Formats: sequence, structure tokens, C-alpha cells
Amino acid sequence: MRPPASFAANLAASRLYLARFAAAPTLHLIGGVPAASASGSTFPNLSPIDAKHLGDVAAGDAADIDAAASAARDSFEEWSATPGSQRKRILHAVADAVEARADEIAVVESTDTGQAIRFMSSAALRGAENFRYFADQAPGASDGLALPSAHHLNYTGRRAIGPVGVITPWNTPFMLSTWKIAPALAAGCTVVHKPAEWSPLTACLLAETALEAGLPSGVLNVVHGTGETAGRALTEHPDIAAIAFVGESATGSAIQAQSAATLKRLHFELGGKNPVIVFEDADLDRALDAVLFMIYSLNGERCTSSSRLLVHRSIHDEFTRRLAAQLDSIRIGNPLDPATVIGPLIHPRHCDQVRSYIELAETEGATVMQGTGWDGAPRGGNYVAPTLFAGATNDMRIAREEIFGPVLTVIAFDDEADAVTLANDTDYGLAAYVWTSDVGRAHRMADAVDAGMVWVNSHNVRHLPTPFGGTKRSGIGRDGGDWSLDFYTETKNVAVAYDTHDIPKLVG
Ligand code: NAD
Repeated sequence: MRPPASFAANLAASRLYLARFAAAPTLHLIGGVPAASASGSTFPNLSPIDAKHLGDVAAGDAADIDAAASAARDSFEEWSATPGSQRKRILHAVADAVEARADEIAVVESTDTGQAIRFMSSAALRGAENFRYFADQAPGASDGLALPSAHHLNYTGRRAIGPVGVITPWNTPFMLSTWKIAPALAAGCTVVHKPAEWSPLTACLLAETALEAGLPSGVLNVVHGTGETAGRALTEHPDIAAIAFVGESATGSAIQAQSAATLKRLHFELGGKNPVIVFEDADLDRALDAVLFMIYSLNGERCTSSSRLLVHRSIHDEFTRRLAAQLDSIRIGNPLDPATVIGPLIHPRHCDQVRSYIELAETEGATVMQGTGWDGAPRGGNYVAPTLFAGATNDMRIAREEIFGPVLTVIAFDDEADAVTLANDTDYGLAAYVWTSDVGRAHRMADAVDAGMVWVNSHNVRHLPTPFGGTKRSGIGRDGGDWSLDFYTETKNVAVAYDTHDIPKLVG
């Protein structure tokens, strides 16, 4: 591990790495060539830190999506027929190249998203890990099963589904993009990526790095722009076989409708209101650290954040007091400062929305507590201090709606059955966290909670072969391991007769 760079070094690095984005508009990458929008339009990209103009970005529309989809279609035949061993080699080269630019990617990501550098310093490394993991899956991506029956040998195989669209959100864009793009490429698909308009820069770094590392032109294309124009056009394009989408549940519904006419395969990773359930018999020191980490890291702008704390009534007051006592020690400030935990939220509009829940909490009757760990950070801007809503109930909007900020809602429960009822009384079902030292209870809770992922006595620790995804309004489908490859491939069954069965005769 490298020692963390100083704040001053990170500021200098940010000036250096961001200069290119200020000097000239950030372009699409279509067929391996940087391209302005056909319309010539651009949109301004503002820093969440101080609203500084970081540069202009090409604003794509249907014409640019069409050009990118054509490039992805034209390169599909060759890329999907490239031997898996060669795809593996190329994707490992991409991982190497991403690692070589890890500092640059971290600084650009931090400046563009407001996420603290202490977390973003691993963004590129986690992205590279995604490429390595799926690179190793590439040689077996088309493998199938042998399913013999009495008179036939059935065997299955998988083929890349075609050019696919990847649409990603703004919260941790680099890592999330690689999570989708790496398995798609490993499976033999070509990709059109539409990154979020509020944090577009590292998508550009990823595509250019991949190209330089030997990914053939046209295999990974990027079109910037808003969801309503570029995103919509991608979901409606007839040459795009599938859409892998990460974002809000409401956007998922819109995409489902938009892509219905072209019958696309869809994979959705959507919102969450994830419960962390703390029983009185848990290791409360570890639970406390995990609760704090899972809501106040990444600015709380994290789909798996433990945004609802369900805590047993017998320890509710003491546990809440201990949580509140930590709030002042959580440093709020410039995300490029290695000491910062909470940086600015992504955009003034999102920040206003998060703040509106703080007002709402008081109206709804919860007690609002906030940390005071400002370190020279401007009090205006997009900054929100770590916030606790104590004494909440599960029917309040602060307990039901995804806030996507450093804001934790605390609710007391009476017993195991009550904990299950509260945990499941939500529209979402992404993740749940259970803290108990009773093994039987841990298994009962894991079974009863309706979520795609349950961590017991742990925060969110991702293991790439395991399935990642949610139930209810949190998503459709799973990422990780073979689940990812299954999404990006079509399965074919071939039945070969042993010539031992009777063929029905219609005549004679
Ligand atoms: P968003 O839904 O507003 O936008 C996500 C992407 O969709 C952006 O690129 C946007 O331009 C695009 N988009 C918007 N409207 C579109 C349309 N009509 N057609 C096609 N594309 C469209 O989400 P966001 O605000 O960027 O991200 C925050 C959300 O993402 C939160 O709800 C969070 O929970 C979710 N998220 C989920 C996961 C997960 O793995 N489940 C991970 C990270 C974030």
C-alpha cells in the first residue's frame, strides 16, 4: 500500500489531471475515435467542491447513440469470435493499464464526484480487480452443460447476446462502470456506455485506457449526455440487445417502458433503504463501527448504505448515544484532503433534496442530531454534516424513502418478529445487515429478511463470485460470478439423437 498523499499533493494532482478537461471539451468515444456530438452541443460539468467549471462535455443525442451503436454492432462479430483466451489477455492488459493510472483516476473521480479521496484511492484498484476477475472467466464464458436424456444427448452453450448498453449513476462511477463493462467484454459483447451527466470524467479515462491497452476499436464506446436524451436513445436503439442499468428505481421503471418496443433484456441495480438490525447480544463495538461506516462513508451516496438502523429497545438509548458521540469526530471537508470522511454531495439539487429530509425529520417528530466536524469546509456548497434521526418510526418518510446522503434513521424494535416486520416493511430489498451473537437467530433472520444480500456481523464486503442485486424495487437480476456472464449471453440447447427413438409417423 502506498502512503496517502498529502492534501497539497492531491490538490496539485487535481490541477494537473483536470487541466485537459478544462482545456477542451470531453468528447464521446465512438469506434475508437474521440467525437464531438453531431449537434455540436455540450454541457458544463461543475465541481461539487466549489461549483468550479471543470470543463464542457459533449451532449449526446440519438444521432450519437446511433453512431456508437453502429460501431458496437460492426465490431461485435470479430470481438465475440475472438478466442476467450485472447479476450482474457486483453482484459488483463486493461487491468494493468487501469492500475498504472490509479492515482490519476482516484483524483479525477474525487474531484468530479465529491467522494473522499480516502475511499476513491481504491476506486481504480477495485475497477482493475473487476477486469481481472472477469478476464479469467472469459475462456469459459461460452461453456455449457451436458444434459443427456434417454434418446438424445443435449448440450448447451452460450453466445454473447450482442452489443449492449451500460447506463451508470454518478455516485461511484468508475468502479460501477467496470462492474458492468468487464463481464460484458469477457462474454464477448461490445458496449455502448452512457455515464451519468453529473460525473462523466472517469468514463472517458476508462475507455481511453482500455483502447490504449489493446481493446479493439469499437468494442467499448462512450456517449455522454443526459438520461432523457442519450440514455433514452440507447434504451430504444434496435441494435442494442440488452441494457445493464444502475440507478434510481423510478429510472428503472422508465427504462423498462422505453425498451419494451425492442424487447431488450434488462438488468437493474436500483435503490435501497437497507436495514441494519442490531440485537442486544451483538458485539456492539464492532456493530457500531460498521453502522457508522455503512452510512457515513461515500457521503452516504451508496446503494447498499445501512440507512435504517433497527436496534433492540433494550440497547436503543445507549447505542444511539454512542453513535451520536462519534458524529463530531467525522471530518467533513474537501474530498482531496486525506483526513476528510464526508465530502460535498454531488450536486446542489441533490444536496437540497437531502437537506429537505432534515427539515422533514423535525416535522415528522424525529430528533435530529448532526456532527460538527467541519474543517474549514465551506458551510454553504454541497456539504451535509453526518446526521442522525433518532426516535423515528418506520411509517415516517425518513424511514421509507431513499435519501442517498449521510443520514441515518434510527428505529427501536421489541423482538425478533418485530425486527423482521420492520426490516421487510419497505418497498426496497437490496441489502440487510444483521448483528447478533446467536447463531440460530442469525440464520433465522437471514432467511426471513427479504433482501438480495444479507451480511451477518459484517459491513458490506464484496466477494466477486457471489451474487449482487436486490428484490422488489431494488432491482432485477444479479451481478457477480456466472450471474453476470449469464446476463450477457444467450444459452442454446442442442439435442442430438442416438437414433434409438421412434419418429412419429403421420402417414402409413
Ligand atoms: P438516475 O437513475 O437518476 O441516473 C442513472 C443513470 O440513468 C444516469 O446515467 C442517467 O443519465 C440515466 N438516465 C436517467 N433517466 C434515464 C432515462 N429515461 N433513460 C435512460 N437513462 C436514463 O440515478 P442517479 O441519481 O445517477 O444515482 C443514484 C441512484 O442509483 C440511487 O437510487 C442509488 O441507490 C442507485 N444505485 C444503485 C446501485 C446498486 O447496485 N443497486 C449502485 C449505485 C447506485
